[in-house]
Amino acid sequence: MTSFDTKVCLVTGAGSGIGRAMALAFAKAGARVVVCDIDAGSAGRTAAEIGDAAVAAAADVSDEASVAALAETAIEACGRVDVLCNNAGIMDTMALPADITVEQWERVLRVNLTGTFLVTHAVLPHMLSQGGGAIVNTASEAGIRGGAAGAAYTASKHGVVGLTKSVAWAYAKDGIRCNAILPGPTMTNIADGTAFDPAGAARLGPVLALGERLAQPEQMAEAALFLASDAASFVNGAIVPVDGGWSAA
Ligand code: NAD
Repeated sequence: MTSFDTKVCLVTGAGSGIGRAMALAFAKAGARVVVCDIDAGSAGRTAAEIGDAAVAAAADVSDEASVAALAETAIEACGRVDVLCNNAGIMDTMALPADITVEQWERVLRVNLTGTFLVTHAVLPHMLSQGGGAIVNTASEAGIRGGAAGAAYTASKHGVVGLTKSVAWAYAKDGIRCNAILPGPTMTNIADGTAFDPAGAARLGPVLALGERLAQPEQMAEAALFLASDAASFVNGAIVPVDGGWSAA
């Protein structure tokens, strides 16, 4: 396994699911981990699982002031950020473009896309002054196809794919790499309490059924670990499905 000894890794949405698995995996590989989540309790629980190598940081990635405080906490506590995993995200209700409310559209875009931008924007100056870094964005199969989620989630994840490529190209000469994973359906808490739109669920169902196997969050973490590691030192701007073959169907 690649060592992340001496590295500092900031993971958003690390209180649950894929982000929690990423935080634990980076810590196991030797990194100090800044465990960010909007839910302070769950951030604290993941940090407690890790122990001394973790710093819990409650922050809302969709809020500029909260993100500025997050970057400050990371730098004050750890001095640098070598790896940023922009992982925090929320589902939509699978509502189709004609049916989604403007409020839902704006909320999902704000967290999934603007949140990814805000944290990247806050951390990039530190990576530039350090002379490098690696960013791994958690997009989705919905970032490359139209039938895997509702309109807002699909647009937000296509946006994350675009931002990934923009950052990758912009800073390739500065030692900063930016890649994205596209998880297929994964066993997490993301759909808890979501009331799905019946028309959307009916239209998207056949595509979702192609993702026959559910992944474990740890399988996403392993892919992120590789992309953030020196083993992937020339991998930049890659959009990597981690879906057991779903996108190949
Ligand atoms: P999850 O709900 O288990 O974990 C997401 C975490 O993000 C939660 O702890 C939540 O509190 C946190 N979060 C939500 N909004 C936040 C905000 N504004 N600021 C900071 N933290 C916030 O879900 P998950 O499945 O682990 O989701 C992680 C990422 O994986 C998301 O970007 C999601 O879109 C993506 N994804 C998940 C699946 C899947 O099937 N689970 C598939 C494709 C992509």
